[in-house]
Amino acid sequence: MPRIPADEILIAGHWPRGRGAPVRTVDPADGTLLATLHAASVDDVEEAARAAAEAAAAPAWRDLLPHERARLLHRIGDLIEEHADDLSALQTADTGKTLAETRALALSAAATFRYTAAALETAEDALTPSRGGYVTMSVHEPIGVVGAINPWNSPIASDAQKVAPALAAGNAVLLKPAEWTPLVSLAFGRLVHRALTEAGLPAALLSVLPGKGSVVGDAIVRHPLVARIGFTGGTGTGRAIARTAADKLVPASLELGGKSPTIVRPDADVEQALAGVLFGIFSSSGQSCIAGSRLFVHSSLYDSFVGELVERVRRLRVGPGTSPGTQVGPLVHHRHRDAVAAYVDLAREEGGRVLCGGAVPEGEEYAEGAYYLPTVIDGLPNSARTCQEEIFGPVLVALPYDDEDELVARANATDYGLACGIWTRDARAAWRLARRIDAGTVWINTYKQFSISTPFGGMKDSGLGTEKGRDLIRAYQRQKSLYWGTDTAPLPWAN
Ligand code: NAP
Repeated sequence: MPRIPADEILIAGHWPRGRGAPVRTVDPADGTLLATLHAASVDDVEEAARAAAEAAAAPAWRDLLPHERARLLHRIGDLIEEHADDLSALQTADTGKTLAETRALALSAAATFRYTAAALETAEDALTPSRGGYVTMSVHEPIGVVGAINPWNSPIASDAQKVAPALAAGNAVLLKPAEWTPLVSLAFGRLVHRALTEAGLPAALLSVLPGKGSVVGDAIVRHPLVARIGFTGGTGTGRAIARTAADKLVPASLELGGKSPTIVRPDADVEQALAGVLFGIFSSSGQSCIAGSRLFVHSSLYDSFVGELVERVRRLRVGPGTSPGTQVGPLVHHRHRDAVAAYVDLAREEGGRVLCGGAVPEGEEYAEGAYYLPTVIDGLPNSARTCQEEIFGPVLVALPYDDEDELVARANATDYGLACGIWTRDARAAWRLARRIDAGTVWINTYKQFSISTPFGGMKDSGLGTEKGRDLIRAYQRQKSLYWGTDTAPLPWAN
């Protein structure tokens, strides 16, 4: 059992009880209550935002040189790594994910801080070509207070992807985790708080404000002092946040949903493709924005490939995230499991054939948990709702295809454009397809591999803007141009 944090949240450098409604967080593996935590209130957001603005403007923070801020980021990375086992246990309890996955997520959060520190130390401002009697430069400055709003599926990794570049850029951050999974973000907050106080920096540079998105998230987005939003979550929420940001004329980066196609060509390495398709959709129990949830297989191998896939899906080990052998853990919440089950019912109504899964697993060990069997469905047209809407669970729809133009048209016939997988031995075909599919990320002969050094973002309804990559800090800065006059004579106009 992980150590459960006290009923305290991080507001403006202090750890009081939130003044909002009580929130119950539950272990989805067995339904046990992990903690009852008081959410932040709108007044808490107000207090955090004011203190964050002061902290961002404080000379102790504002005047730090890049290598000094980088030292703080390294310290946070080290603390996360040191506590990786505790963070992993807490996240597994809160989200149901396997310990192997949550440990990898904690270590990736540490790596994000270190990569960001390196990017910060090596970032350069530009001297731009002179076109007159002046020298011109372009410099980057902090924005002030930024909001970071995250979903429940990979809390600590998403937290690091926003907080690291925001701090590196010299800002203060208001972080809102999802109501279902506040625990690991609060534990992360403890470590950042510790690093800030050890370094003698303003502790109000990070507040962690759990609670309902419609209350706490909305208050952060609307707050006049919050001058940039980093959001990861559903497309509907992202659109609403973008509207508010547009009214305030502040930037918002949006990492949203997906319904990503995975393509198996006739020349694919079948063993590799089978393993990749299984991992792409059923790891994280399908609760992944980039899950390969639509499978297009060439008709020449459709029956044999899908037949073998179904056999292997039946053998996947479903169980609690704490069991070492588990491949498919419970879904994050019983309500979410019910929503996934409703989609499979819809697929049946739409005429789909459920080839495996399509039910909650039987057995006492599953009775109280939010489990759902890994499911493969076929026989649906690409236009079916089950083929178009993000299910965010362990549900794969399989579709045969015949030729490349038709494949590209169907793969792109979706509102989303987040990711794509291509399995082929033909490099030219991979190149052609990769360039024609609407997706922010394309994996060729691999899937769901991530690197902090490679930009990530979505097309169409999957998002706006990018996270990660060499320029990840720039997204949290304002650009300013300076003109330095070099002429000794006065400007001629006034003569
Ligand atoms: P969600 O409902 O949009 O929630 C995301 C976050 O926004 C939560 O913290 C939520 O709070 C908050 N929120 C809700 N309404 C809000 C409002 N009016 N104003 C401000 N904040 C608000 O998404 P979800 O169901 O938690 O997460 C799953 C979605 O995230 C999927 O669509 C998935 O594809 C997407 N996702 C995308 C990426 C990516 O990088 N592209 C990565 C991971 C997940 P509460 O939940 O606490 O109410």
